[in-house]
Amino acid sequence: MSDPSLWEQIRGHDQTVGLLRGVIDKDRPAHAYLFYGPRGIGKTKTAMAFAAALNCVSACGVCPSCRSIQAHTHPDFHFVEPEGQQTIMRRQIVDLLKVVHLKRRPGGYKVVVVDEAQELGPEAANTLLKTLEEPPEGVVFILVASNIDRVLATIASRCQRVAFSALDSAVVGDILIADYKIDADKAKLAAALTRGMVGEAIELAAGGLLDMRPELLKVMTATAGDASAPTLLAENLIAIAKKRTSKVKKAQETELAELIAFVEGSTHAAGIKKRVSANQKRELARLEHRFYRQVLLLAAALYRDLLLISENVDKRFLANSDMAPLMESVSATPRQVRAGLAHIEETGRRLARNVGPLLAFENLFFALGDVA
Ligand SMILES: [Zn+2]
Repeated sequence: MSDPSLWEQIRGHDQTVGLLRGVIDKDRPAHAYLFYGPRGIGKTKTAMAFAAALNCVSACGVCPSCRSIQAHTHPDFHFVEPEGQQTIMRRQIVDLLKVVHLKRRPGGYKVVVVDEAQELGPEAANTLLKTLEEPPEGVVFILVASNIDRVLATIASRCQRVAFSALDSAVVGDILIADYKIDADKAKLAAALTRGMVGEAIELAAGGLLDMRPELLKVMTATAGDASAPTLLAENLIAIAKKRTSKVKKAQETELAELIAFVEGSTHAAGIKKRVSANQKRELARLEHRFYRQVLLLAAALYRDLLLISENVDKRFLANSDMAPLMESVSATPRQVRAGLAHIEETGRRLARNVGPLLAFENLFFALGDVA
């Protein structure tokens, strides 16, 4: 059997994939698409398959064109994403448009994927808008957004919209078991906790965070019996985040050292070094940020379960079904739980605004202890 194409590797979006494959068969793509729907359900993966298919009809995944698109090294493929946890800057769009307007190779399409398009800053969005209004021939823009309400309406209106819905958590569980060889109990748990977000579920099941839930619950509901518990837990989380990124950091150092040896003596050496090390720093910040987002996701799942318990819902419906006895020992009123969920959401916003993670989590755990 031949390797599955990039289309066949996408799970749970049959209708959308069918629609996009139809576009490829007719060879009549729109100038711009907006893929939108919850985070971590396969939108970017689908955008990458579509990009490959625009240059290799079957999106085979193994030819030089498909492989170089997946590796972001294809000369007619451009991938833009926010720098660090920040926004997509005007400079990034200006650089992009310079190459987009260059002549393309005959036959194929130039494809631009703008990931996290809701993070386009106002100046970047307006610059991009001008191009979307007068699209160059043979260029296809694919904007990917996890929050369509934050995409500038004038931009959205220039794009053909393609909606993605969250997957059923049973489907996510199956994907984790079949494709990622994750143990069945853990897979089901991670799928339930992340509510249909495959990307998040994979990371959650792979990391050690699931085991930290009892401690998280105790501290959040002030049943840890120790006033220093919130600080200790926050410090512990930061230490885990650093430990997780330290491997990547080591690999980056080696990569940078090799690069420096390679470009030594070149007139561009200093510039290249600076650019690469800035990219590496952003990559690390992104990894850490993803870890913190997972902590908040777990905290929110625990609180949603507390809400269900306060409403006497059958414990089979709890996302943390394995922790039912411990959850039931916590008494929280619906009002307290809602206040807790609001604190958790606010912490997500604070982290996105670059508040230090130690401070943000310490504040969160103290605040939660107070409402409990
Ligand atoms: Zn191919």
